[in-house]
Amino acid sequence: MESVIERIERGQFWKFHGGIHPPQQKFLTNDKPIRQLPLPKQLVIPVQQNIGLAGEIIVKIGEQVLKGQALTKASHPMAVPVHAPTSGTIKSIEKSIIAHPSGLSELCILLTPDGDDRWLQRKICTDYQSLPKSDVIEKIANSGVAGMGGAGFPSHIKANTKAQINYLIINASECEPYITADDLLIREHCAGIFDGIKILDHLLNPAFILIGIEDNKPEAIKALQKECQSNDRIKVCVLPTKYPTGGEKQLIMALTGKEVPSGVLPSALGIVMHNIATCFAIADAVIHDTPLIKRVVTVSGQALAKPQNVWALLGTPVEFLLKQCGYQQLDAQQTAQLPDEKQIIMGGPMMGFSLPSTNVPIVKISNCILAPSSKEIPHDEKEVECIRCGQCADVCPSQLLPQELQWSAKAKNQQQLNQLNLFDCIECGACAYVCPSHIPLVHYYRIAKAEIRQQSALDIQAEKAKERFEARKLRLERDKKARDEKTKKAAEARKARMNSGTVSGNSDNPLSQLR
Ligand code: SF4
Ligand code: SF4
Repeated sequence: MESVIERIERGQFWKFHGGIHPPQQKFLTNDKPIRQLPLPKQLVIPVQQNIGLAGEIIVKIGEQVLKGQALTKASHPMAVPVHAPTSGTIKSIEKSIIAHPSGLSELCILLTPDGDDRWLQRKICTDYQSLPKSDVIEKIANSGVAGMGGAGFPSHIKANTKAQINYLIINASECEPYITADDLLIREHCAGIFDGIKILDHLLNPAFILIGIEDNKPEAIKALQKECQSNDRIKVCVLPTKYPTGGEKQLIMALTGKEVPSGVLPSALGIVMHNIATCFAIADAVIHDTPLIKRVVTVSGQALAKPQNVWALLGTPVEFLLKQCGYQQLDAQQTAQLPDEKQIIMGGPMMGFSLPSTNVPIVKISNCILAPSSKEIPHDEKEVECIRCGQCADVCPSQLLPQELQWSAKAKNQQQLNQLNLFDCIECGACAYVCPSHIPLVHYYRIAKAEIRQQSALDIQAEKAKERFEARKLRLERDKKARDEKTKKAAEARKARMNSGTVSGNSDNPLSQLR
Protein backbone atom coordinates (compact mmCIF):
# COMPACT_ATOMS: atom_id res chain seq x y z
CA MET A 1 0.00 0.00 0.00
CA GLU A 2 1.17 3.48 -0.82
CA SER A 3 2.62 5.25 2.21
CA VAL A 4 1.55 8.67 3.48
CA ILE A 5 4.93 10.11 2.52
CA GLU A 6 4.81 8.70 -1.00
CA ARG A 7 1.40 10.31 -1.51
CA ILE A 8 2.64 13.61 -0.09
CA GLU A 9 5.70 13.54 -2.34
CA ARG A 10 3.36 13.17 -5.31
CA GLY A 11 1.31 16.15 -4.05
CA GLN A 12 -1.73 13.99 -3.26
CA PHE A 13 -3.79 14.42 -0.14
CA TRP A 14 -6.97 13.10 1.42
CA LYS A 15 -10.31 14.92 1.49
CA PHE A 16 -12.16 15.71 4.69
CA HIS A 17 -15.95 15.75 4.77
CA GLY A 18 -17.81 18.96 3.91
CA GLY A 19 -16.18 22.35 3.93
CA ILE A 20 -16.94 25.57 2.03
CA HIS A 21 -15.26 28.15 -0.20
CA PRO A 22 -16.11 31.61 1.17
CA PRO A 23 -14.54 34.71 -0.48
CA GLN A 24 -10.93 34.95 0.72
CA GLN A 25 -10.57 38.70 1.15
CA LYS A 26 -6.92 38.22 2.08
CA PHE A 27 -5.83 40.78 -0.50
CA LEU A 28 -6.73 43.55 1.95
CA THR A 29 -3.66 42.83 4.10
CA ASN A 30 -1.35 40.31 2.42
CA ASP A 31 0.56 42.85 0.34
CA LYS A 32 1.92 44.97 3.20
CA PRO A 33 4.72 44.24 5.66
CA ILE A 34 3.95 43.70 9.36
CA ARG A 35 3.87 47.12 11.00
CA GLN A 36 5.46 48.05 14.34
CA LEU A 37 3.19 50.23 16.48
CA PRO A 38 3.87 52.90 19.11
CA LEU A 39 3.27 51.95 22.76
CA PRO A 40 -0.34 52.19 23.89
CA LYS A 41 -1.04 54.36 26.96
CA GLN A 42 -2.20 51.38 28.94
CA LEU A 43 -2.03 47.59 28.67
CA VAL A 44 -4.66 45.27 30.13
CA ILE A 45 -3.21 41.82 30.69
CA PRO A 46 -5.70 39.07 31.56
CA VAL A 47 -4.16 36.74 34.14
CA GLN A 48 -5.45 33.70 32.22
CA GLN A 49 -5.01 33.57 28.46
CA ASN A 50 -4.82 29.83 27.92
CA ILE A 51 -6.88 26.68 28.22
CA GLY A 52 -6.23 25.33 31.71
CA LEU A 53 -5.54 27.38 34.79
CA ALA A 54 -4.41 30.91 35.62
CA GLY A 55 -1.02 31.55 37.18
CA GLU A 56 -0.58 33.07 40.62
CA ILE A 57 -0.06 36.87 40.61
CA ILE A 58 3.44 37.78 41.84
CA VAL A 59 3.44 41.59 41.42
CA LYS A 60 1.85 44.32 43.53
CA ILE A 61 0.02 47.51 42.64
CA GLY A 62 2.54 50.35 42.27
CA GLU A 63 5.44 48.00 41.46
CA GLN A 64 7.83 48.95 38.64
CA VAL A 65 8.32 46.08 36.21
CA LEU A 66 10.68 45.47 33.33
CA LYS A 67 9.77 44.25 29.86
CA GLY A 68 9.57 40.46 29.90
CA GLN A 69 9.22 40.23 33.69
CA ALA A 70 6.83 37.50 34.84
CA LEU A 71 3.61 38.91 36.32
CA THR A 72 2.28 35.51 37.35
CA LYS A 73 3.86 32.18 38.15
CA ALA A 74 2.45 28.79 37.23
CA SER A 75 1.84 26.54 40.21
CA HIS A 76 0.19 23.80 38.12
CA PRO A 77 1.29 22.13 34.85
CA MET A 78 -1.87 23.39 33.11
CA ALA A 79 -1.16 26.99 34.15
CA VAL A 80 0.85 29.33 31.92
CA PRO A 81 2.39 32.59 33.19
CA VAL A 82 1.89 36.05 31.67
CA HIS A 83 4.65 38.67 31.38
CA ALA A 84 5.02 42.43 31.17
CA PRO A 85 4.92 43.39 27.45
CA THR A 86 6.89 46.57 28.21
CA SER A 87 8.44 48.31 31.23
CA GLY A 88 6.19 50.39 33.44
CA THR A 89 4.12 50.48 36.62
CA ILE A 90 1.40 48.12 37.78
CA LYS A 91 -1.55 50.48 37.96
CA SER A 92 -4.14 48.07 39.29
CA ILE A 93 -5.21 44.46 39.51
CA GLU A 94 -8.92 44.24 38.90
CA LYS A 95 -11.68 42.59 36.94
CA SER A 96 -11.89 44.01 33.45
CA ILE A 97 -13.88 43.17 30.33
CA ILE A 98 -12.11 40.60 28.14
CA ALA A 99 -12.51 39.28 24.60
CA HIS A 100 -15.45 36.94 25.04
CA PRO A 101 -18.77 36.92 23.20
CA SER A 102 -20.65 37.42 26.46
CA GLY A 103 -18.60 40.47 27.53
CA LEU A 104 -17.25 38.58 30.55
CA SER A 105 -15.00 40.34 33.06
CA GLU A 106 -11.90 38.52 34.28
CA LEU A 107 -9.00 39.35 36.58
CA CYS A 108 -6.50 41.55 34.72
CA ILE A 109 -3.24 43.31 35.52
CA LEU A 110 -3.28 46.92 34.25
CA LEU A 111 0.17 48.19 33.29
CA THR A 112 1.03 51.81 32.55
CA PRO A 113 4.05 51.85 30.19
CA ASP A 114 6.93 54.19 31.19
CA GLY A 115 7.96 54.63 27.54
CA ASP A 116 11.48 53.29 28.10
CA ASP A 117 10.69 49.73 26.98
CA ARG A 118 13.50 48.44 29.26
CA TRP A 119 14.11 44.69 29.07
CA LEU A 120 14.78 42.33 31.91
CA GLN A 121 18.24 40.82 31.44
CA ARG A 122 18.08 37.88 28.99
CA LYS A 123 20.51 35.07 28.21
CA ILE A 124 20.79 33.76 24.66
CA CYS A 125 20.96 29.96 24.39
CA THR A 126 22.04 28.51 21.05
CA ASP A 127 23.09 25.06 22.32
CA TYR A 128 19.75 23.89 23.70
CA GLN A 129 20.52 20.40 22.33
CA SER A 130 23.14 20.05 25.08
CA LEU A 131 20.54 20.75 27.80
CA PRO A 132 18.35 18.06 29.36
CA LYS A 133 15.02 18.03 27.48
CA SER A 134 13.22 18.85 30.72
CA ASP A 135 15.12 22.17 30.88
CA VAL A 136 14.01 23.06 27.34
CA ILE A 137 10.39 22.19 28.21
CA GLU A 138 10.71 24.35 31.33
CA LYS A 139 11.92 27.31 29.25
CA ILE A 140 8.84 26.99 27.02
CA ALA A 141 6.55 26.74 30.06
CA ASN A 142 8.16 29.68 31.90
CA SER A 143 7.91 31.84 28.78
CA GLY A 144 4.14 31.51 28.76
CA VAL A 145 3.85 29.92 25.33
CA ALA A 146 0.33 28.70 24.54
CA GLY A 147 -1.07 27.62 21.16
CA MET A 148 -1.48 30.75 19.04
CA GLY A 149 -3.76 29.26 16.41
CA GLY A 150 -6.86 29.82 18.48
CA ALA A 151 -7.01 27.12 21.14
CA GLY A 152 -4.42 28.46 23.61
CA PHE A 153 -3.41 25.00 24.85
CA PRO A 154 -0.19 25.13 26.95
CA SER A 155 2.57 24.38 24.42
CA HIS A 156 5.00 22.80 26.90
CA ILE A 157 2.50 19.96 27.46
CA LYS A 158 2.28 19.17 23.74
CA ALA A 159 6.07 19.51 23.41
CA ASN A 160 6.48 16.93 26.17
CA THR A 161 4.38 14.17 24.60
CA LYS A 162 5.77 10.80 25.68
CA ALA A 163 4.08 8.75 22.96
CA GLN A 164 6.03 7.65 19.87
CA ILE A 165 5.41 10.41 17.32
CA ASN A 166 5.22 9.54 13.63
CA TYR A 167 4.12 12.94 12.38
CA LEU A 168 4.75 16.37 13.85
CA ILE A 169 2.27 18.52 11.92
CA ILE A 170 2.86 22.25 11.69
CA ASN A 171 -0.40 24.04 10.96
CA ALA A 172 0.24 26.92 8.57
CA SER A 173 -3.04 26.58 6.69
CA GLU A 174 -4.61 29.82 8.00
CA CYS A 175 -7.82 28.88 6.21
CA GLU A 176 -10.14 31.56 7.58
CA PRO A 177 -10.98 34.47 5.22
CA TYR A 178 -9.29 37.84 5.83
CA ILE A 179 -6.58 36.51 8.18
CA THR A 180 -3.01 36.79 6.89
CA ALA A 181 -1.02 37.01 10.15
CA ASP A 182 0.71 33.61 9.74
CA ASP A 183 1.28 34.22 6.02
CA LEU A 184 3.19 37.43 6.75
CA LEU A 185 5.02 35.91 9.73
CA ILE A 186 6.29 33.08 7.49
CA ARG A 187 7.35 35.50 4.76
CA GLU A 188 9.22 37.79 7.17
CA HIS A 189 10.47 35.37 9.84
CA CYS A 190 10.84 31.96 8.22
CA ALA A 191 14.26 31.30 9.78
CA GLY A 192 12.90 31.98 13.30
CA ILE A 193 9.96 29.66 12.65
CA PHE A 194 12.36 26.92 11.56
CA ASP A 195 14.38 27.38 14.75
CA GLY A 196 11.15 26.58 16.62
CA ILE A 197 10.41 23.58 14.39
CA LYS A 198 13.93 22.25 15.06
CA ILE A 199 13.37 22.61 18.82
CA LEU A 200 10.13 20.60 18.56
CA ASP A 201 11.95 18.04 16.38
CA HIS A 202 14.61 17.72 19.10
CA LEU A 203 11.99 17.31 21.85
CA LEU A 204 9.51 15.01 20.08
CA ASN A 205 11.77 13.10 17.72
CA PRO A 206 9.07 12.50 15.10
CA ALA A 207 9.64 10.32 12.03
CA PHE A 208 8.44 13.14 9.73
CA ILE A 209 7.48 16.80 10.00
CA LEU A 210 4.57 17.85 7.77
CA ILE A 211 3.92 21.56 7.26
CA GLY A 212 0.32 22.00 6.06
CA ILE A 213 -0.30 25.21 4.10
CA GLU A 214 -3.05 26.22 1.66
CA ASP A 215 -2.16 27.04 -1.94
CA ASN A 216 -3.32 30.68 -1.56
CA LYS A 217 0.01 31.71 0.06
CA PRO A 218 2.59 31.35 -2.75
CA GLU A 219 5.31 33.53 -1.18
CA ALA A 220 5.09 31.80 2.21
CA ILE A 221 5.21 28.39 0.46
CA LYS A 222 8.40 29.42 -1.37
CA ALA A 223 10.00 30.63 1.87
CA LEU A 224 9.16 27.37 3.66
CA GLN A 225 10.39 25.20 0.76
CA LYS A 226 13.67 27.12 0.63
CA GLU A 227 14.21 26.78 4.38
CA CYS A 228 13.67 23.00 4.48
CA GLN A 229 15.25 21.95 1.17
CA SER A 230 18.18 20.29 2.94
CA ASN A 231 16.02 18.22 5.27
CA ASP A 232 14.28 15.19 3.75
CA ARG A 233 12.18 14.57 6.86
CA ILE A 234 10.38 17.92 6.54
CA LYS A 235 7.66 18.09 3.87
CA VAL A 236 5.88 21.28 2.85
CA CYS A 237 2.37 20.05 2.00
CA VAL A 238 0.53 22.49 -0.26
CA LEU A 239 -3.19 21.84 0.13
CA PRO A 240 -6.08 23.14 -1.99
CA THR A 241 -7.79 26.11 -0.36
CA LYS A 242 -10.93 24.96 1.44
CA TYR A 243 -12.40 26.09 4.72
CA PRO A 244 -11.77 24.74 7.44
CA THR A 245 -8.56 22.93 6.41
CA GLY A 246 -6.89 24.39 9.51
CA GLY A 247 -9.13 22.50 11.93
CA GLU A 248 -6.97 19.99 13.82
CA LYS A 249 -8.89 16.88 12.79
CA GLN A 250 -9.43 18.16 9.25
CA LEU A 251 -5.72 18.85 8.70
CA ILE A 252 -4.76 15.46 10.13
CA MET A 253 -7.23 13.81 7.74
CA ALA A 254 -6.00 15.86 4.76
CA LEU A 255 -2.34 15.04 5.38
CA THR A 256 -2.39 11.49 6.74
CA GLY A 257 -5.80 10.06 5.88
CA LYS A 258 -6.30 9.27 9.59
CA GLU A 259 -9.56 10.06 11.34
CA VAL A 260 -9.16 11.11 14.96
CA PRO A 261 -12.10 9.50 16.80
CA SER A 262 -14.28 11.53 19.13
CA GLY A 263 -12.67 11.96 22.55
CA VAL A 264 -9.26 10.69 21.39
CA LEU A 265 -6.11 12.83 21.34
CA PRO A 266 -4.05 12.91 18.11
CA SER A 267 -1.03 11.72 20.13
CA ALA A 268 -2.82 8.35 20.47
CA LEU A 269 -2.38 8.07 16.68
CA GLY A 270 1.26 9.17 16.89
CA ILE A 271 0.51 12.75 15.79
CA VAL A 272 1.21 16.10 17.45
CA MET A 273 0.18 19.41 15.92
CA HIS A 274 1.54 22.91 16.60
CA ASN A 275 0.56 26.18 14.97
CA ILE A 276 3.30 27.87 12.93
CA ALA A 277 3.21 31.10 15.01
CA THR A 278 3.65 28.98 18.13
CA CYS A 279 6.89 27.59 16.61
CA PHE A 280 8.19 31.15 16.33
CA ALA A 281 7.26 31.81 19.97
CA ILE A 282 8.99 28.57 21.05
CA ALA A 283 12.22 29.67 19.34
CA ASP A 284 11.97 33.06 21.06
CA ALA A 285 11.47 31.34 24.41
CA VAL A 286 14.24 28.74 24.15
CA ILE A 287 16.92 30.57 22.14
CA HIS A 288 16.30 34.24 22.89
CA ASP A 289 14.99 33.91 26.48
CA THR A 290 12.03 36.02 25.33
CA PRO A 291 8.59 35.31 26.74
CA LEU A 292 5.41 35.55 24.71
CA ILE A 293 4.54 39.25 24.98
CA LYS A 294 3.51 40.15 21.46
CA ARG A 295 1.94 38.60 18.37
CA VAL A 296 1.03 39.41 14.79
CA VAL A 297 -2.60 40.50 14.45
CA THR A 298 -4.43 41.01 11.16
CA VAL A 299 -6.49 44.20 11.45
CA SER A 300 -8.74 44.10 8.42
CA GLY A 301 -12.09 45.03 6.92
CA GLN A 302 -13.42 47.71 4.63
CA ALA A 303 -14.31 50.02 7.52
CA LEU A 304 -10.58 50.68 7.91
CA ALA A 305 -8.53 53.18 5.91
CA LYS A 306 -5.30 51.18 6.49
CA PRO A 307 -6.00 47.47 6.95
CA GLN A 308 -2.72 45.67 7.73
CA ASN A 309 -0.88 43.19 9.92
CA VAL A 310 0.66 44.65 13.06
CA TRP A 311 2.93 43.49 15.87
CA ALA A 312 0.62 43.98 18.84
CA LEU A 313 1.77 43.77 22.45
CA LEU A 314 -0.45 41.44 24.47
CA GLY A 315 -2.80 43.61 26.47
CA THR A 316 -3.17 46.24 23.74
CA PRO A 317 -6.78 47.48 23.67
CA VAL A 318 -8.58 46.69 20.39
CA GLU A 319 -9.59 50.34 20.20
CA PHE A 320 -5.90 51.35 19.93
CA LEU A 321 -5.34 48.93 17.01
CA LEU A 322 -8.45 50.18 15.22
CA LYS A 323 -7.31 53.79 15.49
CA GLN A 324 -3.82 52.88 14.26
CA CYS A 325 -5.40 51.25 11.21
CA GLY A 326 -7.60 54.17 10.29
CA TYR A 327 -10.92 53.27 11.85
CA GLN A 328 -13.15 56.29 12.39
CA GLN A 329 -12.60 58.04 15.70
CA LEU A 330 -14.60 56.36 18.44
CA ASP A 331 -16.02 58.51 21.17
CA ALA A 332 -16.24 57.21 24.75
CA GLN A 333 -19.88 56.20 24.43
CA GLN A 334 -19.32 54.24 21.23
CA THR A 335 -16.32 52.54 22.78
CA ALA A 336 -18.18 51.44 25.90
CA GLN A 337 -21.10 49.94 23.99
CA LEU A 338 -20.75 49.26 20.29
CA PRO A 339 -23.96 49.97 18.43
CA ASP A 340 -25.03 47.23 16.03
CA GLU A 341 -23.99 49.08 12.91
CA LYS A 342 -20.42 49.30 14.24
CA GLN A 343 -19.78 45.59 14.43
CA ILE A 344 -16.20 44.71 15.36
CA ILE A 345 -15.28 41.04 15.20
CA MET A 346 -12.48 39.33 17.09
CA GLY A 347 -11.17 36.46 14.95
CA GLY A 348 -12.26 35.95 11.37
CA PRO A 349 -15.74 36.20 9.90
CA MET A 350 -16.33 32.44 10.30
CA MET A 351 -15.07 31.60 13.78
CA GLY A 352 -14.86 35.06 15.30
CA PHE A 353 -17.41 36.79 17.49
CA SER A 354 -18.73 40.33 17.74
CA LEU A 355 -17.09 42.32 20.49
CA PRO A 356 -19.35 43.98 23.03
CA SER A 357 -16.73 46.73 23.49
CA THR A 358 -13.47 47.85 21.89
CA ASN A 359 -11.87 48.17 25.33
CA VAL A 360 -11.00 44.48 25.33
CA PRO A 361 -7.31 43.57 25.10
CA ILE A 362 -5.39 41.46 22.59
CA VAL A 363 -4.40 38.10 24.10
CA LYS A 364 -2.19 35.20 23.02
CA ILE A 365 -4.87 33.68 20.76
CA SER A 366 -6.08 36.92 19.09
CA ASN A 367 -5.09 36.58 15.44
CA CYS A 368 -7.50 39.03 13.83
CA ILE A 369 -9.63 42.09 14.41
CA LEU A 370 -12.20 42.67 11.74
CA ALA A 371 -13.97 45.97 11.12
CA PRO A 372 -16.24 45.17 8.18
CA SER A 373 -18.47 47.58 6.35
CA SER A 374 -22.17 46.68 6.52
CA LYS A 375 -22.02 45.62 2.86
CA GLU A 376 -19.14 43.26 3.55
CA ILE A 377 -20.76 41.33 6.36
CA PRO A 378 -24.45 42.13 6.58
CA HIS A 379 -25.74 41.56 10.10
CA ASP A 380 -29.37 42.52 9.79
CA GLU A 381 -30.59 39.29 8.22
CA LYS A 382 -33.53 37.93 10.17
CA GLU A 383 -33.45 34.36 11.40
CA VAL A 384 -36.41 32.36 10.07
CA GLU A 385 -37.64 28.80 10.57
CA CYS A 386 -35.39 25.90 9.56
CA ILE A 387 -36.60 24.50 6.23
CA ARG A 388 -34.80 21.16 6.73
CA CYS A 389 -32.81 21.61 3.56
CA GLY A 390 -29.87 19.63 4.99
CA GLN A 391 -27.23 21.95 3.54
CA CYS A 392 -25.69 22.44 6.97
CA ALA A 393 -25.06 18.70 7.36
CA ASP A 394 -23.53 18.53 3.86
CA VAL A 395 -20.84 21.08 4.75
CA CYS A 396 -20.17 20.10 8.36
CA PRO A 397 -16.51 18.95 8.53
CA SER A 398 -17.21 17.12 11.80
CA GLN A 399 -20.02 15.13 10.17
CA LEU A 400 -22.57 16.32 12.72
CA LEU A 401 -26.25 17.10 12.26
CA PRO A 402 -26.29 20.88 12.74
CA GLN A 403 -30.05 21.29 12.37
CA GLU A 404 -30.72 18.63 15.04
CA LEU A 405 -28.15 20.26 17.28
CA GLN A 406 -29.91 23.57 16.84
CA TRP A 407 -33.30 22.15 17.88
CA SER A 408 -31.81 20.39 20.90
CA ALA A 409 -29.92 23.55 21.85
CA LYS A 410 -33.09 25.62 21.68
CA ALA A 411 -34.94 22.98 23.72
CA LYS A 412 -32.02 22.89 26.20
CA ASN A 413 -32.00 19.11 25.91
CA GLN A 414 -28.49 18.44 27.24
CA GLN A 415 -28.79 14.68 27.02
CA GLN A 416 -29.64 14.82 23.34
CA LEU A 417 -26.92 17.40 22.68
CA ASN A 418 -24.38 14.99 24.16
CA GLN A 419 -25.78 12.15 22.05
CA LEU A 420 -25.42 14.35 18.96
CA ASN A 421 -21.75 14.95 19.91
CA LEU A 422 -22.09 18.69 20.40
CA PHE A 423 -18.55 18.84 21.77
CA ASP A 424 -17.15 17.55 18.45
CA CYS A 425 -18.37 20.79 16.89
CA ILE A 426 -15.32 22.94 16.14
CA GLU A 427 -17.47 26.08 15.80
CA CYS A 428 -16.21 26.59 12.25
CA GLY A 429 -19.42 28.32 11.17
CA ALA A 430 -19.65 26.47 7.84
CA CYS A 431 -23.22 25.39 8.67
CA ALA A 432 -24.36 28.93 9.47
CA TYR A 433 -22.64 30.21 6.32
CA VAL A 434 -24.79 28.05 4.04
CA CYS A 435 -28.02 28.18 6.06
CA PRO A 436 -30.71 29.81 3.88
CA SER A 437 -32.76 30.55 6.99
CA HIS A 438 -29.96 32.72 8.42
CA ILE A 439 -29.96 30.76 11.67
CA PRO A 440 -26.92 31.75 13.76
CA LEU A 441 -26.23 28.09 14.46
CA VAL A 442 -22.81 28.52 16.11
CA HIS A 443 -24.27 31.06 18.51
CA TYR A 444 -26.75 28.41 19.74
CA TYR A 445 -23.99 25.81 20.05
CA ARG A 446 -21.76 28.13 22.06
CA ILE A 447 -24.56 28.92 24.48
CA ALA A 448 -25.42 25.21 24.79
CA LYS A 449 -21.79 24.28 25.40
CA ALA A 450 -21.45 26.98 28.07
CA GLU A 451 -24.63 25.75 29.78
CA ILE A 452 -23.48 22.13 29.73
CA ARG A 453 -20.07 23.11 31.10
CA GLN A 454 -21.75 25.18 33.81
CA GLN A 455 -24.09 22.31 34.64
CA SER A 456 -21.23 19.81 34.89
CA ALA A 457 -19.30 22.25 37.11
CA LEU A 458 -22.39 22.48 39.34
CA ASP A 459 -22.75 18.68 39.29
CA ILE A 460 -19.10 18.31 40.33
CA GLN A 461 -19.62 20.87 43.11
CA ALA A 462 -22.76 19.07 44.28
CA GLU A 463 -20.94 15.71 44.16
CA LYS A 464 -18.05 17.15 46.19
CA ALA A 465 -20.48 18.67 48.72
CA LYS A 466 -22.21 15.28 48.99
CA GLU A 467 -18.86 13.55 49.51
CA ARG A 468 -17.94 16.11 52.19
CA PHE A 469 -21.33 15.62 53.90
CA GLU A 470 -20.98 11.81 53.83
CA ALA A 471 -17.42 12.00 55.14
CA ARG A 472 -18.51 14.31 58.01
CA LYS A 473 -21.43 12.06 58.85
CA LEU A 474 -19.11 9.05 58.97
CA ARG A 475 -16.60 10.95 61.12
CA LEU A 476 -19.32 12.05 63.58
CA GLU A 477 -20.65 8.49 63.78
CA ARG A 478 -17.13 7.18 64.35
CA ASP A 479 -16.46 9.79 67.07
CA LYS A 480 -19.77 9.02 68.77
CA LYS A 481 -19.05 5.30 68.67
CA ALA A 482 -15.58 5.89 70.16
CA ARG A 483 -17.06 8.11 72.90
CA ASP A 484 -19.76 5.54 73.70
CA GLU A 485 -17.12 2.81 73.82
CA LYS A 486 -14.99 4.85 76.19
CA THR A 487 -17.95 5.66 78.49
CA LYS A 488 -18.98 2.02 78.46
CA LYS A 489 -15.46 0.88 79.34
CA ALA A 490 -15.18 3.44 82.16
CA ALA A 491 -18.55 2.33 83.60
CA GLU A 492 -17.52 -1.30 83.42
CA ALA A 493 -14.22 -0.55 85.16
CA ARG A 494 -16.02 1.36 87.91
CA LYS A 495 -18.46 -1.45 88.37
CA ALA A 496 -15.64 -3.99 88.47
CA ARG A 497 -13.79 -2.00 91.13
CA MET A 498 -16.90 -1.67 93.29
CA ASN A 499 -17.69 -5.37 93.02
CA SER A 500 -14.15 -6.56 93.76
CA GLY A 501 -14.11 -4.87 97.23
CA THR A 502 -10.66 -3.53 96.61
CA VAL A 503 -11.87 0.00 96.74
CA SER A 504 -10.12 0.84 100.09
CA GLY A 505 -7.09 2.99 99.77
CA ASN A 506 -8.11 4.17 96.35
CA SER A 507 -8.18 7.90 96.65
CA ASP A 508 -10.20 8.10 93.44
CA ASN A 509 -12.96 6.12 95.00
CA PRO A 510 -15.57 8.39 96.62
CA LEU A 511 -16.35 5.63 99.13
CA SER A 512 -12.85 5.94 100.62
CA GLN A 513 -13.60 9.51 101.65
CA LEU A 514 -16.61 8.36 103.70
CA ARG A 515 -14.40 6.40 106.14
S1 SF4 B 1 -29.13 24.77 6.59
FE1 SF4 B 1 -30.47 25.93 7.97
S2 SF4 B 1 -32.50 25.64 7.10
FE2 SF4 B 1 -31.20 24.08 6.16
S3 SF4 B 1 -31.45 22.28 7.52
FE3 SF4 B 1 -29.69 23.39 8.24
S4 SF4 B 1 -30.48 24.70 9.86
FE4 SF4 B 1 -32.25 24.06 8.63
S1 SF4 C 1 -19.99 24.91 13.38
FE1 SF4 C 1 -20.05 22.84 14.19
S2 SF4 C 1 -21.94 21.98 13.43
FE2 SF4 C 1 -21.50 23.78 12.19
S3 SF4 C 1 -20.37 23.01 10.43
FE3 SF4 C 1 -18.85 23.61 11.93
S4 SF4 C 1 -18.43 21.75 13.12
FE4 SF4 C 1 -20.35 21.41 11.98
